Amino acid sequence: MSEKQFKVVVVGIAGVGKTSLLERVAFNNFEMYKKPTIGVDFFPYTAKLPDGNEVVMQLWDTAGQERYAQLNSAYWRAADAIIAVFDATSTYSLESACQYLHKIYEDFGGSKIDPALHPIRVLLANKIDLPRGESTEDAQRDIATNPSGTCGPVTFYGRCSALTGEGVVDVFERIAGKLLIAQFDRKVYKQRSEVLISSGHLESIVDKCSC
Ligand code: GDP
Ligand code: MG
Repeated sequence: MSEKQFKVVVVGIAGVGKTSLLERVAFNNFEMYKKPTIGVDFFPYTAKLPDGNEVVMQLWDTAGQERYAQLNSAYWRAADAIIAVFDATSTYSLESACQYLHKIYEDFGGSKIDPALHPIRVLLANKIDLPRGESTEDAQRDIATNPSGTCGPVTFYGRCSALTGEGVVDVFERIAGKLLIAQFDRKVYKQRSEVLISSGHLESIVDKCSC
């Protein structure tokens, strides 16, 4: 069992299925006609990896602020992972998810900051049970995996359906595995920085590390 509870934050415009996704992964439940999210919710979830490791997460849902474009840095502060969700039938929602990912990347310091200090960034297509909409799966994959494109660098791209459950556990297992690797990388980064500082080579860089 990992010592830490990892903060995993879900962003994306209203209606893409963020709350449905979290209810699916945390409670294996789906309600077709649901009210918009009210109040902040976070869902506890423990991912059990095939190698026996358990990764404890807090999955943060929005309190409906995304309806008024009010999601901001207070919401993703100290996040260990970000999941930007889009509706696989809506190109607009994919563009918005990319804008969120890009903004969050810049908020965490962009390319000026060591990759080890960035949260994991996942771009996730939801509603893949629906007939294909405005763009093909290949076109979405091209946008998602182009590191110099509008999404910026993405840790991985996934596809799922909160309705059928397809792909959901798989995505969260992948995130859990990446969180463990990132935790290790941060420790190494911190130790390396401390050695450099004590030998007079580097100053104050560990202050930026929230690990
Ligand atoms: P949020 O605003 O991003 O939290 O989105 P919700 O979870 O409230 O979902 C918005 C609507 O999309 C609801 O009517 C859900 O039932 C529906 N929905 C969510 N996930 C899926 C999915 O995977 N497939 C389908 N077909 N509908 C979904
Ligand atoms: Mg919601």
